[in-house]
Amino acid sequence: MRTDPNCLFCKIIAGEIPSEKVYQDEVITAFRDINPVAPTHILIVPNKHIPDNNAFSEEDKPIAGQLFTAVRQLAEQEGIAEDGYRLIMNTGPHGHQEVMHMHLHLIGGKSMQHPMG
Ligand code: 5GP
Ligand code: ZN
Repeated sequence: MRTDPNCLFCKIIAGEIPSEKVYQDEVITAFRDINPVAPTHILIVPNKHIPDNNAFSEEDKPIAGQLFTAVRQLAEQEGIAEDGYRLIMNTGPHGHQEVMHMHLHLIGGKSMQHPMG
């Protein structure tokens, strides 16, 4: 599997940098954000180093299913499924993506700011 030795999230996935992991299998990893913006703030990432959604290829398609299934399961585990939550994937400079290893933010446990943008 493709990894990048200089990538923060690749190091977290490999356990080289500590994190509070809440789920991991052969395809994806979920861990708590170090700087949470809400009571629940979990990052869900492919184990493969895919820098951003622009680099998501045809062969990566099954990973998307795994990511979204994990979101549902984690939302249930966190007790935020019913009240709802926000799912964000920042991409590129306009999206203010800071870590170039694609990731979903699962954010919930309080009402989100509205409108977005
Ligand atoms: P982005 O801006 O790229 O969408 O989000 C990157 C996220 O990674 C931020 O919410 C930031 O708090 C989180 N983050 C940055 N460094 C670390 C770290 O070392 N550990 C964890 N758990 N999260 C991190
Ligand atoms: Zn990476």
